[in-house]
Amino acid sequence: MEIDIATIGGYEEVGRQMTAVRAGDDIVIFDMGLNLSKVLIHDNIQTEGMHSLDLIDMGAIPDDRVMSDLDGDVQAIVPTHGHLDHIGAISKLAHRYDAPVVGTPFTIELVREQIEGEQKFSFDNDLQTMNAGETMAIGSDGCELEFVNVTHSIIQAINPVLHTPEGAIVYGLDKRMDHTPVIGDPIDMERFREIGREGVLCYIEDCTNANKKGRTPSESVAREHLRDTLYSMEHYDGGIVATTFASHIARVKSLIEFARDIDRTPLLLGRSMEKYSGTATRIGVEFPDVEMVGYRRAIDQTMERVMNEGKENFLPVVTGHQGEPRAMLTRMARGETPYQIDEGDKVIFSARVIPEPTNEGQRYQAEKLLGMQGARVYSDIHVSGHMCREGHYTMLKALQPEQLIPAHQDMSGFSGYVDLASDQGYTLGRDLHLPANGSIIEIV
Ligand SMILES: [Zn+2]
Repeated sequence: MEIDIATIGGYEEVGRQMTAVRAGDDIVIFDMGLNLSKVLIHDNIQTEGMHSLDLIDMGAIPDDRVMSDLDGDVQAIVPTHGHLDHIGAISKLAHRYDAPVVGTPFTIELVREQIEGEQKFSFDNDLQTMNAGETMAIGSDGCELEFVNVTHSIIQAINPVLHTPEGAIVYGLDKRMDHTPVIGDPIDMERFREIGREGVLCYIEDCTNANKKGRTPSESVAREHLRDTLYSMEHYDGGIVATTFASHIARVKSLIEFARDIDRTPLLLGRSMEKYSGTATRIGVEFPDVEMVGYRRAIDQTMERVMNEGKENFLPVVTGHQGEPRAMLTRMARGETPYQIDEGDKVIFSARVIPEPTNEGQRYQAEKLLGMQGARVYSDIHVSGHMCREGHYTMLKALQPEQLIPAHQDMSGFSGYVDLASDQGYTLGRDLHLPANGSIIEIV
């Protein structure tokens, strides 16, 4: 059976991930993502009404025209998890393929919400849910798709594996090796080792942190850091505000629980806070009951209530961890909301700055504005959702893949992974590939 891998997007950057695997006459697409920084750099752009070709020209979504060079039928479109760099282009590209979108329940709900906002294209692909540990048949030549449970900074992330008669193709984006996650099961290393013993033809790997030594800590470490920080504020009688990734359901859950431990009422404020936590609640994820407010006027009313009843009784969890100019925390820092920040009030960033000049500048500005109002800032109460070098080493030992394709980075970001793989006996150009976006690699 011939096997090709098309590296469509996310092989020269972090963002707009898309990969297609052809096994004989059948094709499976993994991820269809957005490069958000290419969108945000233009002020006030609304992607919902834009044509896919314009978004391709901007570098915002994958250029999937290479798909016409793959000779086969697309059988499934498989987003690995609900981050926008993995699902954000589905509303723009999936309608070109006569295939269902298959993902875990949380991911599929986020896809559904995204296509409801789409204005340019109509979408009639089936949306199918499949859980970690389950499989489905692909085509009629004996291929099978399996979801292996992994752990990441969003719930219900999986690594899809396409089992072919020639061996397995493991699509390894995005994960951290977490044995004590706050929500959901630990990463299924036992299954990865089993798949490794059965024979892995090719492994496509998330290289986000491949240049970092050591091991990424568990989410439970970030949770304890957060607990320690909030408990240290137990006797403070002024305002405490926290911000984190709205999609990071486990982190939001920890914030809610520790707010209650120090006798404060947690409030989730901001449109994306309401969107992600509301979705998790709706699909029955174990998530605490909490007041969520999404729209600006309702948020202002809630903040007026907080100021009247005493802000020492509340802990607002808001959007704006990157200092985004229109997010809640930045508006609070500019004094544009009824919530008043006073000398000594605490602001907790349970996030790191995404290392990109726009974010760094905006976050710097937001922290300065908060400081000018007298706020005390607690930064970096966070662990990454991506494996560092020792995680990559462990995965290589577990899977023992014949061929390797690093992804989810730019060229400088790949260097650590290339070093590691070379040390493990792989050779660039032979069994270690660094393809450009839009390449097709003949694996068999
Ligand atoms: Zn991700």
